[in-house]
Amino acid sequence: MTRPTLTIHRSAHEIGGNCIELAHGDARLLLDVGRPLDAPREATNLLPATLDKQRPVDAVLISHPHQDHYGLLDETPADWPVYSGEFAGKLMRLTANIFGTAPDRDYRHWRSGQAIDIGPFKVTPYLTDHSAFDSYMLLIEVGGTRILYSGDFRIHGRKAALVERLMAAPPADLDVLLMEGTNLGSDKPTKHESDLEADFVALFKETPGRVFVCWSAQNIDRTVSLYRACIRTGRTLAVDLYTAEVLEMLGEAGRIPQAGWNNIKVVITRSLARMYEAKGRKDFVERMAAHGVSAAKLAENCGRWVVMTRPSMVRDFESKGVRPTDEDAWSYSQWRGYLAQPDGVALKAWFDQGGARAMHIHTSGHASVADLHAFASAMKPRMLVPIHGVAWDAEGAGFANVVRLKDGEVLAT
Ligand SMILES: [Zn+2]
Ligand SMILES: [Zn+2]
Repeated sequence: MTRPTLTIHRSAHEIGGNCIELAHGDARLLLDVGRPLDAPREATNLLPATLDKQRPVDAVLISHPHQDHYGLLDETPADWPVYSGEFAGKLMRLTANIFGTAPDRDYRHWRSGQAIDIGPFKVTPYLTDHSAFDSYMLLIEVGGTRILYSGDFRIHGRKAALVERLMAAPPADLDVLLMEGTNLGSDKPTKHESDLEADFVALFKETPGRVFVCWSAQNIDRTVSLYRACIRTGRTLAVDLYTAEVLEMLGEAGRIPQAGWNNIKVVITRSLARMYEAKGRKDFVERMAAHGVSAAKLAENCGRWVVMTRPSMVRDFESKGVRPTDEDAWSYSQWRGYLAQPDGVALKAWFDQGGARAMHIHTSGHASVADLHAFASAMKPRMLVPIHGVAWDAEGAGFANVVRLKDGEVLAT
């Protein structure tokens, strides 16, 4: 039989929208089927044209629950089996339920470090450090070829030790390293997550009023940093119903802050409560209300609160008299690019109007340039195949054994 082949259908020259195929004989494996980050919300039929949808695949492996890695699952044939981490699967289904697109699929789950056989492919998942919960790197062995797919990763989050362990004992004789390069050519902050916690502690201490923070409910590292900073400063973290649901769902995965614990409360806002009730989830709202505060409470005893804020909550806050003042601070703790979008512009205007001090504390979900170099050196691949980046060609010098592919180009490994 000929050598296994590798095809990057999408993400050779862009960040996200990953869709990569490994084929050996008639067997095919897909690594991620992500939605391009720049695709309009309503856009459909986004699967890459070079991907053959007619022939079966042995499995679609989803590295982690970010839309740019799984967002086109709905467009793949329903009989293609889908593998992911167990909690990643829960998060994907939770998001799909909210958007009303939870297709019935054959979902299977792996465990970190335990190899599974899928057709001729031997797949070993390694839990990794990234801003999405339950993210994996994937080692695939087939037809005498060994391929490591980095997925998205970093080495400065709360799970950095997992990546460092892999670097200390890398897979032997790696033929191909498919590695992301999101932060090549960027100056995004790559501080350690634990340093962020210290920055939040300082902000909470020096702010007389409330601290409003915007972050992703599924960025559990960040929720933990904020929660720990609240404990250290005697504040209470007020999260929304959706975040409370995410935390409850992941509760079995480890010591993750939960509604009902000290220093955390669930803000029951009208529109989210209605959304849950419309989905027949009144029981969830009632259960959370036992650990809840009304939005109106956030207008009192202001120095106590760290308030999760997202653009969709502003109207409910306003109607309950929760308005930023010059005693308050706000922190945009996610990618700053969103602030330039209409929702973000409106949000910033809301804080500016009230005179709240801006102090944006954030760190990237992706490895720094130095860490990308260190990781690639440690893996010593025969071929380093760049993906998930826009500056590989300008900034890729200095990486050894680079084999640059175009989207759709077939590489014989
Ligand atoms: Zn990504
Ligand atoms: Zn990601």
